[in-house]
Amino acid sequence: MEPLLEVKQLHIQFQAHGGTVKAVRGIDFTIGKGETLAIVGESGCGKSVSSLAIMGLIDHPGKITNGSIIFKGKDLTRLTSKEMRKVQGIDISMVFQDPMTALNPTLTIESQLIEGLIHQKKMSKRVAKKEAIKVLEWVGISNPHERLKQYPHQLSGGMRQRIVIAMALICEPDLLIADEPTTALDVTIQAQILDLFESIQKRTGISIVIITHDLGVVAKMADRIAVMYAGRIVEMGSKRQVFYHSEHPYTRALLNSVVRLDQTSHSLKPIEGSPPDLFSPPKGCAFVDRCPFAMEVCGRVQPQKSRLREGHQIECWLQDTRAVAVRKEMLASQ
Ligand code: SF4
Ligand code: MG
Repeated sequence: MEPLLEVKQLHIQFQAHGGTVKAVRGIDFTIGKGETLAIVGESGCGKSVSSLAIMGLIDHPGKITNGSIIFKGKDLTRLTSKEMRKVQGIDISMVFQDPMTALNPTLTIESQLIEGLIHQKKMSKRVAKKEAIKVLEWVGISNPHERLKQYPHQLSGGMRQRIVIAMALICEPDLLIADEPTTALDVTIQAQILDLFESIQKRTGISIVIITHDLGVVAKMADRIAVMYAGRIVEMGSKRQVFYHSEHPYTRALLNSVVRLDQTSHSLKPIEGSPPDLFSPPKGCAFVDRCPFAMEVCGRVQPQKSRLREGHQIECWLQDTRAVAVRKEMLASQ
């Protein structure tokens, strides 16, 4: 089946004082129709930047320096800004962490919801309003007629995030990108919003990219997982493969650093050290300074992708046949 979105060898840089930050350094991934891909990693790993690139939102001082983003057969990196505006919000839309940044405090919910329908889909105001009410019902907002007349500050945080999701869905996009969509919300509301994404996906068959550092969100939502570290995807596979059969020391450390219900806080293992400076990324594996299994070659040469099994790949020198003893040691470790 042809993927809905195919990202190939994407490189993104930012000009900053003192040099160039290589934020994304050659990533590849695909998303199928109706699928949820979770992109996980620590802050600064390039996950948000990658999603902004899909939305066509990388602006000066940022730049896509290489690669392609093929969406329904078209390379989005080659579109003009005018062409890209026809994709934004219509074919691909985005939900950010803080609903207030997505909402205009001076406009009613109605004007914000129907704007896209009137301008991009050329609907009459009356038809657009009907659509708005339908979408508000989908996202679980009661009294939609009343809500339409209100302003963002009159609503609770959870309600505002539902409105933002309604805005993202109203033009019936094929792909929804959600960047930490529940981080700003309290735990009960978080769970409701995640349930909402699931029910929307069931109803519409939309594909979802969810960007998060929260493995609980990943466990609930993802079909497939891409683990990012220092601008690269170091592991990718199905949720099962990554959670239960990971062979990448970084992914394993990430999974080990999470509180499990059956563990006391004594068994928490924070990952020591910090990610490398992306002004001058290391020549070899970026995890080398924090990896308990690092070998001489790791710091010198970038590990290439190796396939562990169908659909599951990692970038790590432990897959080299010469590293068989160290690999055994890693697999035996917790
Ligand atoms: Fe560790 Fe080397 Fe694998 Fe990097 S390539 S994760 S340093 S073993
Ligand atoms: Mg982020």
